Order: sequence, then structure tokens, then C-alpha cells
Amino acid sequence: MSDFNPYAPPADISDSGGRWGGADDGGGLWRERFLLVMDRTATLPADRCIVCNAPATGKPLRRKLSWHTPWWYLLVLFNLLVYAIAAMIVRRKVDLRVGLCDTHRSRRRWWIALAWSLVLAAIGLLAIGLTTRLTDGTAASLIGLAVSGFLAGGIIGIYGVRVVTAKQIDDRYAWIGGVSSKLLDTLPDWSGPKYHG
Ligand SMILES: [Zn+2]
Repeated sequence: MSDFNPYAPPADISDSGGRWGGADDGGGLWRERFLLVMDRTATLPADRCIVCNAPATGKPLRRKLSWHTPWWYLLVLFNLLVYAIAAMIVRRKVDLRVGLCDTHRSRRRWWIALAWSLVLAAIGLLAIGLTTRLTDGTAASLIGLAVSGFLAGGIIGIYGVRVVTAKQIDDRYAWIGGVSSKLLDTLPDWSGPKYHG
């Protein structure tokens, strides 16, 4: 514990052979109920799909996750810009590389394609709504549809594409959601500080 160096570069997963590892105490990976708890310097197994535990294919996917104490969201009520600046400062980050199987890799690509299609369709509708001579009612419905398209595209862009999520991050550990329960079953139980959520 005493020789933990938060500034150490992340371990290189290319030569890990899919082993758990990278941290100074064992694999640096544990399970707390439905969450994966990891030492922030640990690496995830590159040979297993993080979503379903099937053999992973292709290059691991890089996911940069961030998290801050939910109390900071109260600042949104006060001022969105103040919140955005505070969140940039207080958030903690973890940089992961997750394995994905063919199914989950292509599912993610479909979500990305769908999100972009919705946004492009929304831009098209907005352009028609603003430039064409239409009755006020039709123009308003087109613009309403466009706004819904932007929102849906944005939500899918965030939630469909993220694969895994950071549920909590402290100075040393990260709690990760969205990990296969089969994969969690292979991990030792976590006995450190609890997940607060
Ligand atoms: Zn999978």
C-alpha cells in the first residue's frame, strides 16, 4: 500500500496476456455486489467481453470515465455554467480499456449510427422547418420533431454508447457498473470502503 504511486503510467495491457493486473496488490480487481471495484491503476482483462464475458475480439475499447459527488448537481439549480466549471475541477477520472465481443462491438456501432442518423434527420427537419414556406402549425411540428430528434440522438449517444459507467471514484479506487455478472463471479469480494449509491 505504502508504495502506491498515483502518477505511475497505466500498465500496458498488450503484454498482459489477458491476466488481471497492473495494481500492486493482486489483480487490483474485486466485486462489490453488481459493481466491479478496481484499483485505478489496474487493467481489465483484454480477452473477455466486459458486457457478457464471451471471448473478446479486436482491439480493446478505450473508455475515459469521470465521476463527481452527486451533491455538485445542486449547482445546476443555481447556474449551469458554474456547475460545468465546478464539475471540471472536482471530477475524478479513470481511463479504461475494455474487451468487447463481436456482438457487443457491433451493437455499440449500431447505437452510434442510430444516434448520428437521428441528429442528421433533426438537422434536415430543422432546415426544412426554417426555410420552407409552411403554415405556422406545420413549421412548429417540424421544429418540435427536430428537437425530439436531437434529444433522442443525444441520449442514445450517451447511454447506448457508453458500455460501462463510473458509479463512484475515490482517490484510489473506481466502482464500475455495466460489467458482466459472469465476469464479476470470477473476482474476489471487495472488503474496502463501500459504494455509497
Ligand atoms: Zn459481449
